[in-house]
Amino acid sequence: MYGLKGKLQSNHTCQNCFDTYYITAPKGDWAVAQWCKSCRFRCDICNGEGVIFSSRPDRYQTVTDCPQCSGIERRMKLFNEAKLPARYHDKDFGSFSTYSDDAATRKVGNLVEVHHDLYNYALEFVPGSPGVLMAGNVGTGKTHLMAAFVRQLTLEKGFQCRFIEFSHLLSKLREAYETRQNSIDIINRLATVPVLFIDELGKGRKTDWELSIIDELISKRYNGCLSTFFTTNYRLGSSRDAPRKKKARVVDTHDKDFKNQLFLETLEDRVGQRIVSRLFEMCQVIEIEDVPDYRQRRMQKSHTQGRKLGRFSKP
Ligand SMILES: [Zn+2]
Ligand SMILES: [Zn+2]
Repeated sequence: MYGLKGKLQSNHTCQNCFDTYYITAPKGDWAVAQWCKSCRFRCDICNGEGVIFSSRPDRYQTVTDCPQCSGIERRMKLFNEAKLPARYHDKDFGSFSTYSDDAATRKVGNLVEVHHDLYNYALEFVPGSPGVLMAGNVGTGKTHLMAAFVRQLTLEKGFQCRFIEFSHLLSKLREAYETRQNSIDIINRLATVPVLFIDELGKGRKTDWELSIIDELISKRYNGCLSTFFTTNYRLGSSRDAPRKKKARVVDTHDKDFKNQLFLETLEDRVGQRIVSRLFEMCQVIEIEDVPDYRQRRMQKSHTQGRKLGRFSKP
């Protein structure tokens, strides 16, 4: 993978890290990458120090990064700085399930195509390319796929990324406001990172203040031509296309249709037309179709048949 195999380990496959030399684990709130303890000290150039000390002819000591393992160190740091939530520490494209649990050959909705398109996009992606706006019901695996994308970009390709849950961003900004810290610093850091992932866009109380913050962040990234990825539980398209909403009533949250009803509200209803039109300009669009909540999927015996998908397409 990094051209190190065979140098660091000979005739041996590490069952702990599968010869990547790092593992990822939950640590507090975040996912972290760290050296595989079985491999760490096998770098025969630097003895696992990561740097090499050498003496010049004039007797000055110099310190340089180890050419063999410092690249991995840097990529692990990028993964850690991306701040994936701890529960997604091991999510990659290989562990994403696209088939029904009760019938291994039965596709679930358009997940096979979504997974295939995203994986291939992650392989060819460079910062500055369009982001992805991924819409689908709760529990369809959107965050798993975004976490896999982050993992690919940081650990495999060495790009700087940042992942943030939208509601977490809002609570950080509110906290900064209440304690009179500078919320502009928080926005500016997110506005300038080369690749930003915003999970669950539209979730929140939808106050004018919240909308102005989203607008500012997205405008800055739009103007800077920076790659931005979004997931949302809300439908794309305008509210005019939505099925007619039922009158307000008491809602049974255990009702199996409850989550589908949530999805009737559009992203435009949540964040406004201006922001949504920006997103369509910045992103390729993926809609996950006909996929039941994966928590229900495990229990269900029968599934809807996979429907033909719309691949990356602008609505
Ligand atoms: Zn190992
Ligand atoms: Zn080394």
